[in-house]
Amino acid sequence: MSESTSNPPSSAAATASSVEDFRAKLSAVRARLEAAAQRAGREASEIRLLPVSKTVPEERLRNAFEAGVHEMGENKVQEAKRKSENLAELGIRWALIGHLQSNKAKDVARFADEFQALDSLHLAQALDRRLQTAGRQLDVYVQVNSSGEESKFGLEPGEVAGFLREVAAFDSLRVRGLMTLAAHTDDRDRIRECFRIMRELRDAGIQEGTVGDGQLSMGMSGDFELAIEGGSTCVRVGQAIFGARQYPDSTYWPGN
Ligand SMILES: *Cc1c(COP(=O)(O)O)cnc(C)c1O
Repeated sequence: MSESTSNPPSSAAATASSVEDFRAKLSAVRARLEAAAQRAGREASEIRLLPVSKTVPEERLRNAFEAGVHEMGENKVQEAKRKSENLAELGIRWALIGHLQSNKAKDVARFADEFQALDSLHLAQALDRRLQTAGRQLDVYVQVNSSGEESKFGLEPGEVAGFLREVAAFDSLRVRGLMTLAAHTDDRDRIRECFRIMRELRDAGIQEGTVGDGQLSMGMSGDFELAIEGGSTCVRVGQAIFGARQYPDSTYWPGN
């Protein structure tokens, strides 16, 4: 960890704040990403690093931006909307990566550049209507519950093929691929199994021509290297770049 005199002592230890801190964190994560790609015999350039900025205050995001973070993932609409407004002059690309209620579709249609948690036709319909009105298109990923954990959002694997066929009817939604949160466990084989299920679903979608260019958004701070070995084309990394979050993830995901 770098010692930065401009940080309050409490956050200096674990939390990246200065531009310099962010540069260091980013290059450390990129180095891990590249090493994982190499182990998997893949090109690092085909794997996108999506920094996840949820809960991180705007002042710190300005520094992250300066350090090269030009797209950010958020999982709550209100928070993402506020940040997109207050940081508008930076031209950040905003990816919404969390569960969305249909009644928030209007907001998302306005500010989001991408939505990674599409999980119902009702929502697809609401988004499509709002996007038509706004004269926009939106890149979307279909969220899949690959772990079978009840606390996770997303379609069951068996529902994915049919859903992809139906979602093709919505002109303003550009399906780019599939997204998942792997099992929350230390059991690496269980995590690998989640990624394998995703790859199969993606390959089936490519065969059918229903999954756009077949992107796979999977992998977070704790498992992104495994995800890269499992075929991920987009890793969503929060804490490894921004530092540990103060809130438990149950704040974001429903509990059992
Ligand atoms: C928070 C979050 C991430 C990033 O998690 P980290 O552990 O901070 O890397 C990735 N994907 C989704 C959907 C999230 O909500």
